[in-house]
Amino acid sequence: MASFDVLIVGGGNLGLWTAYHLAKRGTRRIAVCERYWAGFGATTRSAGIVRQQGGSETAVKLGKWSRELYRQLGQELGIGSGFTEVGYYVAASSEEERAAFHDLVELRQRCGIANEWLDPPELKRRVPFVDWDRFLGATYTPDDGFVYPAIVARNITHAVLKAGVSLFEECEVQAIEPLSSGYRVQTTRGTFEAERVVDAAGPRGARRIGAMLGIEVPVSAARHQIVTFPERPAAMPANFPMVFVLSQGYYLRPDEQGVLLGMSNPEEQADPTERFLLEFDWAYFERLKPEWEATIPSLAGQPIGRAWTGSIDYTPDHLPIIDEPRFGFYVVAAGGHGMMWGPALGMKLAELILDERVTELPDEEIRLSRFSEPRRVRDAIALPFPTR
Ligand SMILES: Cc1cc2nc3c(=O)[nH]c(=O)nc-3n(C[C@H](O)[C@H](O)[C@H](O)COP(=O)(O)OP(=O)(O)OC[C@H]3O[C@@H](n4cnc5c(N)ncnc54)[C@H](O)[C@@H]3O)c2cc1C
Repeated sequence: MASFDVLIVGGGNLGLWTAYHLAKRGTRRIAVCERYWAGFGATTRSAGIVRQQGGSETAVKLGKWSRELYRQLGQELGIGSGFTEVGYYVAASSEEERAAFHDLVELRQRCGIANEWLDPPELKRRVPFVDWDRFLGATYTPDDGFVYPAIVARNITHAVLKAGVSLFEECEVQAIEPLSSGYRVQTTRGTFEAERVVDAAGPRGARRIGAMLGIEVPVSAARHQIVTFPERPAAMPANFPMVFVLSQGYYLRPDEQGVLLGMSNPEEQADPTERFLLEFDWAYFERLKPEWEATIPSLAGQPIGRAWTGSIDYTPDHLPIIDEPRFGFYVVAAGGHGMMWGPALGMKLAELILDERVTELPDEEIRLSRFSEPRRVRDAIALPFPTR
């Protein structure tokens, strides 16, 4: 029977980056068991926004480190990192948001992020393709950007294989049994033993993997959807800056030669089925359309190139999980931000495994037990998901 020092369940952005950091730090026998193919889950269905403008200390730091790690990996491999820096405006629609955003600018600056608050006159001058009369202002970070998820999956898969990680594709984990030392893991490709097991099974698996050991992992999935417009309107420059209308849950970024627009219906319910090919909600698309057409008038009437949905992961406070709820059993989850946080979450989980502690992040924003405690921090800069 094959045995490993660490067996990671899930070959998405989080599982692969965890394997990468463990290998970099000298762990020899690492396995990644992936039910389908590396990157095939939420990772390659995502929009790839990489934002350092988080709503808590953890969110800000994970965004900052991940942006850097994407770029470093591109350099290490000698190929494109998939990261494109265009800058990001997060628009405030109410007085409450304006006040909260001012506080967040201070927090982000303390964390070393170049972040500023801008009033509408300056925004109109800088980004004339947006109707800023609809907003009270926006925060801005010039070195935020986005990744092409397919390139991210390619790079991190290449890196872990190069580092000697055993990647088992089409290998579903079906049961985990504790041993006197370590775990026995039953999969569709045979039974393995491992000293340590990591649950990185994402929106359609993390909960079930935890349940195999009687541990409640509050990771759920909700439908999120994206359309692309193949042509960029003349009013929008090449590599135009990204814009996020937080209160309405829609955002846009450049995509190939056109524009990508993502959106989440706040009334969306959690999908418990582990499906990933979900029906596109055209009714919601039509309902939201007047909003984004008014905000970006040049997009009105543009033909659509592609439209897709995916199960986006969420935790009740939109913050990640980095924890060891049982000796030798670890959980890592991204709270819906796994493209902007994945590389750093992998780094911090590797730290927990190898150093038995996580430095530089507040424990109350990452530990699993926080969900059963009365007061919680929340990442306020997140899509409007259901909180159940
Ligand atoms: C439409 C959409 C847009 C998004 N946009 C963004 C964005 O702009 N920025 C951002 O930061 N985040 C975004 N996200 C969220 C982001 O994609 C996720 O947070 C991230 O991909 C989570 O990574 P993961 O590795 O935890 O999960 P996944 O990528 O889903 O990987 C988990 C893997 O575990 C495997 N697995 C599950 N169960 C088992 C099992 N029993 N045995 C073996 N393998 C198993 C799955 O097959 C899967 O491949 C978006 C998500 C969606 C759906």
